Amino acid sequence: MGRMEQAILIIGGGPSGLSTGLHLAKFAPHLTPRILILEKEHYPRPKLCAGGLVVDAERILEALGLDVNEVPNVISREIRFDFGGKGLRVRVPKSHALRVVRRNEFDHWLAKKAESRGLEIRQGVTVKQVQPEADSVTVETDQGTFTAEIVIGADGSNGITRRSILPHDPVYTARVLELLTPDYPIIEGKFSPRKEAAVFDFFPVPENIAGYVWDFPTQVKGTPMRCWGVYDTNMLAGEKRPTLKQPLAEEMERLGFQLNEYEVKGHPIRWFTPQNKVSVPRVLLVGDAVGADPIFGEGISMALGYGVVAARETAESFQRNEFSFRGYRRRLGRSGLGQTLFSRWLIAQIIYAFKWRWFQFLLWRIFKPIVLLIAWTFVLNWSKKDLRH
Ligand SMILES: Cc1cc2nc3c(=O)[nH]c(=O)nc-3n(C[C@H](O)[C@H](O)[C@H](O)COP(=O)(O)OP(=O)(O)OC[C@H]3O[C@@H](n4cnc5c(N)ncnc54)[C@H](O)[C@@H]3O)c2cc1C
Repeated sequence: MGRMEQAILIIGGGPSGLSTGLHLAKFAPHLTPRILILEKEHYPRPKLCAGGLVVDAERILEALGLDVNEVPNVISREIRFDFGGKGLRVRVPKSHALRVVRRNEFDHWLAKKAESRGLEIRQGVTVKQVQPEADSVTVETDQGTFTAEIVIGADGSNGITRRSILPHDPVYTARVLELLTPDYPIIEGKFSPRKEAAVFDFFPVPENIAGYVWDFPTQVKGTPMRCWGVYDTNMLAGEKRPTLKQPLAEEMERLGFQLNEYEVKGHPIRWFTPQNKVSVPRVLLVGDAVGADPIFGEGISMALGYGVVAARETAESFQRNEFSFRGYRRRLGRSGLGQTLFSRWLIAQIIYAFKWRWFQFLLWRIFKPIVLLIAWTFVLNWSKKDLRH
């Protein structure tokens, strides 16, 4: 196949790549016909993820004029942050606490919205190598070679873009396991009080698993289910730890489920640190390729938020006809997204370094007002700043 030339090549059609495309179409519509998104899978493609959407994800979609209610979803009225089965309960006045989607459905929906706004997505194309040069970027794929003026690497935690352009950058990744079970059974006409709650339990932290076990409501083809998993930042990887399955199996058993009856899947999440590099001349990274939230491994709202910041940077670079992307790190750092990522990195260092039982007990069971204030100020609501312009 011959060389195919583009202005903007986005590698990866997950939420970060699609959001970058959608925001470029919004901020610089004249660029839309010059954008091509390459996705190695075909939609609806599987993506291991619990699918929890926080308020910021919804706000960014709404500002794009998209209605996430079009995607099958389950509403969670309450989020619980527990330590050993008890702790903080968070409800949001006049709203839900968390919306849970399935990523095969969510990403397919977002891709269709992108196409309906004039963005071209080529599915089933796997990028093999990204080579920036002085005046262009060469992208080798299993379907031939593409050249582009700039490339946006939106290919996730293990992405080839970052590995091509920053092969020596240190990588911090969390280990994550996930599985689906039927919903809580009805006993004596009543559902479990956890049915409407999304629960995070930090009980494995004193055992050097620097993370939590989760239990979310979800649905598969309209049938109510539960999505369970365990997240470990690996911040305590030097210490003696149980296997990752162990705390998950323990928690499920406590609630009446047997882990070994279900299929468990694993996938890493690259998390944000302030040292993570974000670009080289002509190539920008977005989403997990830069880093997700270290505390929870939350990354969908962030992926959508990276799209806002990267689209602004790209639109301006085309105006100036200058593609060093020297200002991208600064722009990210000043954005609401960059600020929440930095705060969450700091908070993660504290909550997972102070791993002792007494500290975790105080944090999740006693310090409720302080934890809520910090969460409301530094963890959520960051996207307002980035959508103001
Ligand atoms: C088990 C688990 C549970 C999670 N739960 C949550 C949650 O509840 N809430 C939340 O907010 N976040 C959660 N996350 C994190 C979230 O899934 C990610 O942060 C988010 O998907 C990042 O989006 P992205 O677009 O950067 O990357 P991705 O969603 O990984 O998308 C990357 C895309 O690039 C494509 N691609 C990859 N390589 C190539 C290539 N070489 N060529 C072409 N295309 C390529 C992939 O097929 C994919 O479509 C979870 C993650 C895991 C692993």
